[in-house]
Amino acid sequence: MTRITAQPGIMDIALYQGGQSYLAGVSDVLKLSSNENPLGPPPSAMQALSDAAGGMHLYPSTDHASLRAAIGEVWNVDLDRVICGVGSDEVLQFVTQAFAGPGDEIIYTEHGFSMYPILTSMAGATRVCVDEHERVVDVDAILTAVTENTRVVLLANPANPTGTMLPVEELERLADGLPDYVILVIDGAYAEFSDGYDGGISLARDRSNVLVTRTFSKLYGLGGLRVGWGYGPREMMDVMNRIRQPFNLSVVQLAAAEAAVRDRDWLDTCIALNSEQRARLTGALRQLGLACDESHANFVLARAADSTEADAAEAALNAAGILVRRVAGYGFPEGLRITVGNAEQTGRVIEALTQWREGAAA
Ligand SMILES: *Cc1c(COP(=O)(O)O)cnc(C)c1O
Repeated sequence: MTRITAQPGIMDIALYQGGQSYLAGVSDVLKLSSNENPLGPPPSAMQALSDAAGGMHLYPSTDHASLRAAIGEVWNVDLDRVICGVGSDEVLQFVTQAFAGPGDEIIYTEHGFSMYPILTSMAGATRVCVDEHERVVDVDAILTAVTENTRVVLLANPANPTGTMLPVEELERLADGLPDYVILVIDGAYAEFSDGYDGGISLARDRSNVLVTRTFSKLYGLGGLRVGWGYGPREMMDVMNRIRQPFNLSVVQLAAAEAAVRDRDWLDTCIALNSEQRARLTGALRQLGLACDESHANFVLARAADSTEADAAEAALNAAGILVRRVAGYGFPEGLRITVGNAEQTGRVIEALTQWREGAAA
């Protein structure tokens, strides 16, 4: 019998499920379940990290000035409008915690990132989940769901796990259609993988209610390091910085992320590899009778006929030592989200699925 109780919302949270990382009895596992970079971390970031290690008896900077300056230069944004966090997950937590609480509503969409309901409940706010249209975010459905209690709309563009995206005009229509007391968060975890898209930065530039988030976890190959950032109005930064822990990022995190963001060659190499292998994987999956939308990210969502067929496809991949992500929790019991690997890895996926189809036909 205890009189200790959790704050409202906390017990509604189901623990986040990460991508599977091991297979019993298999040593050479190919992990394509968490959208990590097949080329590993950038060598420039590894060098910067080891150079910085000698200074780790000293507290890190609390204002992240050097990293924000680098982000400002590379992405052509005002560094005073940038905030850095422990992954973009922390930046998302700043915004939901700072601007929503009990009685407030946070909107996200049917196939939205699984952190969104978690963040909503962490803030004690009410979850409002809106339908998508054919696996694409539906702007009108979001606008219809807005009430006087809405505080935040959480949206990933490109989206995870569908890989689909809203064109900039649609994002703009959404931003313009929302009341001025609602914050539009454009989660750009996969923005760099979409050719010609700036992740909503230009949209955020002149608006008082748009926050863009970015991460070093996907394209930059630093998922294990935990660094992300956000770009929004100064007033929003002023609020969020008050709940940010003063030393949320360590000296090695700051140094490695700064080196990575300045490493344009690395970025170009990774983007080129991804587009090439993504097109190859998409084409092969379709030929094998697994439906997939055009992906704008570093993964492809393959849809089998039903969950039984998806089970069989997953079993065939696992037997070949390959891990992918099942996405039933995102509304796709028939879905397999497959990270785009390098040429050899993509070849392994195609080979395993081809053999599976041939075996089933025999
Ligand atoms: C991976 C991912 C993130 C980024 O998480 P980090 O905390 O930056 O590692 C954010 N949003 C979406 C949609 C993602 O898939």
